[in-house]
Amino acid sequence: MAEADGATAPPRPSPDPDDVTWIEPPRCPECGASVRVYPTNYDRWVSLAMVELPAKDVPAAFRWRLTRVPDRSPVPTDILAVRVRGIDPLPSEPVAPAHHMMCVPE
Ligand SMILES: [Zn+2]
Repeated sequence: MAEADGATAPPRPSPDPDDVTWIEPPRCPECGASVRVYPTNYDRWVSLAMVELPAKDVPAAFRWRLTRVPDRSPVPTDILAVRVRGIDPLPSEPVAPAHHMMCVPE
């Protein structure tokens, strides 16, 4: 299932507390574009586009939604990427497209 969803991104490296250098935002190894890498709800990681798009502009296969992890401290890093499944979102509803949708390898 993870392969079909494109959730094949490697996990983010753990930050080194001794490393004070600026951490670059992750980049797609295929095209070099900036991406947002989030854990999914099934222990895989997915690269999402930096911007959200209306659902009508994103094929169903690439629709993701970011959600807070329930029952944990509400720190901003506790975000999960969850595939939008089942009932179609409203056409104007913003979804987070998988970066794969717009990836153009050089
Ligand atoms: Zn790419």
